[in-house]
Amino acid sequence: MSAWSKYISHFKIKDIHNESQVALNRERHKVMTRQAPLMYATLIINMITLLYPHWDKLSHVLTLLIPGIFITVFIHHGIMEYNNIKRHFSDEEIAGKLYSSVWESAAFAVALMVWAYQLFSSEIPILQVQIMFFLYMTLVVFAFFLMYVLPTVILLSAIILIPSTIYILMGDNIVLSVLALDSVFIALAVTSLLFSQYETLANLIKQKLELTSQKQSLVRQADELEKMNGQNLQLANIDTLTALPNRRSFFAQLEQLTGKNSKKPTQKLVVGLMDLDGFKRINDVFGHPAGDALLVKTSQRLQDILGVGISVARLGGDEFGLIITNPQDVDDIKNIGKKICDSMRQVFHLKEGSVQVAATVGFVEYPEMADTSQLLFERADYALCYSKQHTKGQAVVFSSEHETIIRNISNIEHQLRETDLEQELSVMFQPIVDTQTNRTAGFEALARWHNPTLGHVRPDIFIGAAEQMGIIGKLTTILLRKALNAACAWPDDVYMSFNLSIYDLSSPQTVLGLISIVEKSDFPSHRIVFEITETAVMHDFKQANEALNLLKLQGAQIALDDFGTGYSSLSYVQRMPLDRLKIDRSFITDIATDKNTRNIVQTIVDLCNNLNLDCIVEGVETQEQLSILKAMGCRYIQGYYFSKPLLHSDALNFVNHSTNITKKSGGL
Ligand code: C2E
Ligand code: CA
Ligand code: CA
Repeated sequence: MSAWSKYISHFKIKDIHNESQVALNRERHKVMTRQAPLMYATLIINMITLLYPHWDKLSHVLTLLIPGIFITVFIHHGIMEYNNIKRHFSDEEIAGKLYSSVWESAAFAVALMVWAYQLFSSEIPILQVQIMFFLYMTLVVFAFFLMYVLPTVILLSAIILIPSTIYILMGDNIVLSVLALDSVFIALAVTSLLFSQYETLANLIKQKLELTSQKQSLVRQADELEKMNGQNLQLANIDTLTALPNRRSFFAQLEQLTGKNSKKPTQKLVVGLMDLDGFKRINDVFGHPAGDALLVKTSQRLQDILGVGISVARLGGDEFGLIITNPQDVDDIKNIGKKICDSMRQVFHLKEGSVQVAATVGFVEYPEMADTSQLLFERADYALCYSKQHTKGQAVVFSSEHETIIRNISNIEHQLRETDLEQELSVMFQPIVDTQTNRTAGFEALARWHNPTLGHVRPDIFIGAAEQMGIIGKLTTILLRKALNAACAWPDDVYMSFNLSIYDLSSPQTVLGLISIVEKSDFPSHRIVFEITETAVMHDFKQANEALNLLKLQGAQIALDDFGTGYSSLSYVQRMPLDRLKIDRSFITDIATDKNTRNIVQTIVDLCNNLNLDCIVEGVETQEQLSILKAMGCRYIQGYYFSKPLLHSDALNFVNHSTNITKKSGGL
């Protein structure tokens, strides 16, 4: 910007669209309003001082009337500006006021000059000097008080200084002329000083404005950042599929309610975990979009049935977490669980078709059964797993009995880790009888563990513990070696069935270890049947199938164990390299009394015939059950009716004397 245009810019009082001009105006107005009363007071005193010695020597119009008008106007303006100090003015009003003040000052200066000229013409020498002094002092007063309203100062200087100086120079009074020239010089010096002062102010205001705008933009950025952080935080705590709080949020809430910093550490709580049974099947059969839709509908159902005081979160997969605040009693908790299970059993209508699942729920009470968020989760999970194993499709509340079991499990885990398993593990054999030939078709090898400290430990318990500890592969290899060694003594037409765990199948290392044991053994691989459960396969179908195919390549056969308990779909049965199917003993218990069960068993038997699979029925204990099953066309039977699991030597006896089995419980 050139010096001239910069100079001109100071006169653009009315340019209220220019931000720095507006700020400058505001500052000018503030100073002007604040200083106006004092300025007018100074002018009044100045005027009285001038006239007091002469008021009766001249016309009263000049010494009383006109000064009286001036003083009245000054007082009026002074009071007005004083009242304006606290008033708020808009930018337009300020610009208007400043603008009119310039012209009002000019008009005042002209009036002042006319009046001064009249006084000057009186030819009283001392009065002439006094008038000059008065005029210059008035100018100085204006200049200092209206320092920032530069146009006014310049205009006043021009109106007062130029005509008065010319007038005096044109006269012959040398003293006055020198005084006038001196005054002009002083006035110019003061104006230039004021101008630079004014420049400084304008720059300061500009800098202040820039700083303010930088600050505002920083504040805006900080606001945006905060907003983004808020959004990120929200995203990080919400499950994107169901819009429910996610795992992180669930644990944060739990921590908040139960942690050291909890506001209400004594508040009763119940933590629940819900898991869908059969979800994986729907995902596999109908595809992931259907699985996703099912999860969304599940979350909606949960929200619909659970009232105030119960929060739901999706923890991952088909697992949901619940936090119930202030529950009444165990019955109340069980009712909530029942409500959830009943609701989840209702058919879900998806785009891909109608599907049905079940829900299992595990609950734990805080602080009675667990007092930290971690323990609450672990125990709710235990209750959930317990329910899956024992009461499937129902809710279980963690109890002190469960605590005892867990404590026992800790002992079991300790012993499993420390003890010599090679020494303590053994295998028993339960015959599978061919009811057509009345001969032993094979034996199922069943693990046994006798520990000096714990005594006999049930296989389902120590197998489960070893699975949890990740050492099941070690047990399986020991057991398979022992079972094969024993089986070498059996007749050539007797096979050996051996149970594999889900973890065996998902560990390539264990599968290869098993193959190597089979290869090294003298027992022919085509007489080995590996039993796997439905749940094992459903856990990771692809991996399980690959492992099974490898075992089949060795010549071994595959049986699907506990069929009917794992909610597996027929598509699994069809896609797996199966040779046999074992009907779970839970179907046999009431086969004699329940027609529905009979129908189910008959359907499975027919399915096996159609798929060309051998069907084995487990858990047959009575003659009645046997007769019914035989009538249905069941050929291979396993159960206490024929024999309990036998020691190796007894198994050998059994097979050698079983050419004519009719009935024997506990061996022949
Ligand atoms: P499973 O594979 O279903 O084994 C059959 C279970 O039913 C055996 O229990 C057997 O003793 C029992 N049983 C057979 N006939 C009858 C009957 O007429 N009535 C009744 N009430 N029960 C009968 P066990 O030996 O206690 O084994 C329990 C489970 O432990 C097995 O169920 C199997 O899942 C697991 N298991 C046993 N040995 C092994 C093993 O070597 N490896 C693996 N991974 N699991 C094993
Ligand atoms: Ca089995
Ligand atoms: Ca079984």
